[in-house]
Amino acid sequence: MQSQGKQGKLYIVGIGPGDVELLTIKAINALKESEYVIGHKTYLDRIRDLIEGKKIIESGMGKEVERVKLAVKLAEKSIGSLVSGGDPSIYGMLPLVFEFMIKNNLHVNYEVIPGITALCAASPLLGSPVCGDHVVISLSDLLTPWEKIEKRLLHALKGDFVIVIYNPSSRRRKTNLIRAMEIVLNERGDVSVGIVKNAFREGCEVSIKRVSEIVESPETVDMNTILFVANSETLVKGDKMVTPRGYSSKYDF
Ligand code: SAH
Repeated sequence: MQSQGKQGKLYIVGIGPGDVELLTIKAINALKESEYVIGHKTYLDRIRDLIEGKKIIESGMGKEVERVKLAVKLAEKSIGSLVSGGDPSIYGMLPLVFEFMIKNNLHVNYEVIPGITALCAASPLLGSPVCGDHVVISLSDLLTPWEKIEKRLLHALKGDFVIVIYNPSSRRRKTNLIRAMEIVLNERGDVSVGIVKNAFREGCEVSIKRVSEIVESPETVDMNTILFVANSETLVKGDKMVTPRGYSSKYDF
């Protein structure tokens, strides 16, 4: 496709948890319209069939800034997509795109396509652990100091929120998970934790464990896993975890 003379556009596309059937129609249309697609190899691999024939720019982990700079530059003249796993605004590429454009006073034409975030994909696989007020915390201390993460976790526990944990573990970062689970144990006791690994991807595993079991075998939780820490209202029955909204206390059924 020739792009000379026409206005460019940057789509920032959320591609959901993995299964291509969980991409939105808007995401598919944006990819179709794009001349180039830029992203991390893992995410590009998930949508290979949809981007056949496009100019594909793969970049590695830790290269987020370079990826965004290039995507914004290309968007001056051509139409392209920067892809992000799940939703781009949740621990994704979107804030960096805005930060970069604001800091450098750049104005490119853009459109954000939301995606299904890991929380929304994983929660119904467990039952309904998140139905009302909840807190989302990432245990990655690459961009957030660990002390701050601990403080936020503690306050979420004090507020009796169901706590959803992104980035619970990585190859380099094993101790954060153990430390976080010890804080949960101290503050809330040995409650249930819903564990979803690879939601809507190959190797999907769903289980419910006690906090103490995770402390004993933290290797069961890896970087492809999301956790749901029960609050005082959460019920566990068999393989289902449900935090009731309160209907049964109000209605007879
Ligand atoms: N932007 C993404 C999150 C990126 S942070 C989103 O909106 O989902 C990466 C973390 O998300 C992982 O460490 C894991 O905790 C979680 N995650 C992403 N996809 C997942 C999936 N399919 N199953 C379980 N957890 C997932």
